[in-house]
Amino acid sequence: MEKFKYVKPGMSKINAGMPSKFGLPVKQKIISGIDGIPVSALIEEYGSPLFVISEKTIRDVYGEAKRAFDTRYPKVQFAWSYKTNYLDAVCSIFHEEGSWAEVVSGFEFEKALSNGVNGSQILFNGPEKSRDDLIMAIENNACIHIDHFDELYLLIEITREIQKKARVAIRINLDAGIYPIWDRFGFNYENGEAWNAINRIMLAESLELIGLHTHIGTYIMAQAAYGIAASKLANLYMAIHRKFDYWLKYLDLGGGFASKNTLKGAYMPGSETCPSFDDYAEAISNALISSEIPHENLPVLFLETGRALIDDAGYLLTTVLANKRLNGGRRSMVIDAGVNLLFTSFWYNLGVFPTKEMDHAEETTIYGPLCMNIDVIRDAIVFPQVKTGDQLVIERVGAYNITQWMQFINYRPNVVLIDNDGKTHIIRKKESLATFKKVEFDPKRG
Ligand SMILES: *Cc1c(COP(=O)(O)O)cnc(C)c1O
Repeated sequence: MEKFKYVKPGMSKINAGMPSKFGLPVKQKIISGIDGIPVSALIEEYGSPLFVISEKTIRDVYGEAKRAFDTRYPKVQFAWSYKTNYLDAVCSIFHEEGSWAEVVSGFEFEKALSNGVNGSQILFNGPEKSRDDLIMAIENNACIHIDHFDELYLLIEITREIQKKARVAIRINLDAGIYPIWDRFGFNYENGEAWNAINRIMLAESLELIGLHTHIGTYIMAQAAYGIAASKLANLYMAIHRKFDYWLKYLDLGGGFASKNTLKGAYMPGSETCPSFDDYAEAISNALISSEIPHENLPVLFLETGRALIDDAGYLLTTVLANKRLNGGRRSMVIDAGVNLLFTSFWYNLGVFPTKEMDHAEETTIYGPLCMNIDVIRDAIVFPQVKTGDQLVIERVGAYNITQWMQFINYRPNVVLIDNDGKTHIIRKKESLATFKKVEFDPKRG
C-alpha cells in the first residue's frame, strides 16, 4: 500500500468574502470613478483628499422629488436649504431647477442675494435675526419666518420705524409623533401659542401674514409625521379663514426627509429603510387635499428639503496613509480625510469603498489623519487589505459636511464639480497659508 505523502501543517486565514448579517454578497462594491471620471484622474489633478459633487446626481434627485410632489399636489415650491450645502455652484443648480432659497442667517441671506435670488423668493428662518438682518429682509421683500415673540415685537417696531410692511409667516412647533419635539424653535401649536402669535400679527397693521411654517426635525424616517404636521397647519389655515375671512398664500412643511445614509446603531442600511419622496409626498398631499380646505383655496406647498436632495451627489476621495495593527490585534488604517471634513461621520456609518477589487477582508477601524483621538471615520467596517497610497471613496457626503467642516490642523481641500457634460471645475479652492495671511494680524510684527 502506498504511503500518503506528508504535508507540513500550516495556518492560513479563511477568506470567505465579506459576510454580514445579510449573508455573503457575491461582489464587494467598488467605486472606481464618478460620472465616468476615474478616481485616480481626479486625485491626480486636484489632490487628495477631494470633495467631488455630481451635477447630474443633483438634477436627477431633484427631478425625482419634484415629480413625486407635482403629481400629487397642484402647487409645490421647493426652497433650497442653504445651510445643507451653500457652495454657490451647488445653490445655483438648485435655483436653475426652480428652487427658491431657504436661509437661516444674515450671511446666508446675503449669499442667496448674490446668487441672484430675488428677495421675495427667500424664506428667512432661524432664531437669530439681528435688527440689520430684518431690515435687509424687509427691504428685499423676503418671507420672514418669525421664531419667537421678541422677534415679532422687534419686527413691529422696525416696520413702524422704516414705514414699510413686512411679509411674514410664523414657525410652528407641534407634536407630530417625533420626539423630542423641537420646541425651542417657533410657537407651539398645542398650547395655543401659535394661534396667539397669528392673532397678534393679524392685528399689526405693518405685518402681512402670508404663510405658516414648521420643520419637525431632520432625518425623519416616518412619513406619517408629515401627514400629522400638515393636518395641524391646515387646521390653523382654516381657523384664520374663519376668523379673518382671509386665505394665506402658503403652508411650509420644512425639511427633514431622510437621506439614504445609515445612522449609527441602525439595524438595516439607510438605503433600505428611508422612505421615498413618493412616500413623503403621499402623506403630505393626502393630509392637505383631504382636509377641510376647499380645493380652489389650497395654499402653495413649500418644501425646504436639504439632506435628501444633496447627500447622494457628494463624494469624498481619500488616500490610505498607513496600515496598523492595534494592540488587541484589530486591523486599522489611517486615511487622509478626518472628522474635520466629515461632520456627518458622528451620526452615520458612512459608506467607504475601494476603487478596485481587493481581498483579505477583515474588520477594520478607519482613522482620519488628525492628531486627536476622536478622529475615527469608521469604528468597525469589514474592509479588504489596502496598501499605502490606495485610493478610497466615501459616498453620500453632499449634505452638511462642506458647511460644517472645520479648519483644524489641515487646510480644507478642493471641491470639484463634475458638470452635466462630464467636465470638472474647482468650485471651492483648497486653502493655503495665504488664506490665513488675509485674515490674521500679529500686532507685534505689524
Ligand atoms: C436645516 C433646515 C432645513 C433642511 O433640513 P434637512 O433635514 O436637511 O432637509 C429646512 N428648514 C429649516 C428651517 C432648517 O433649519
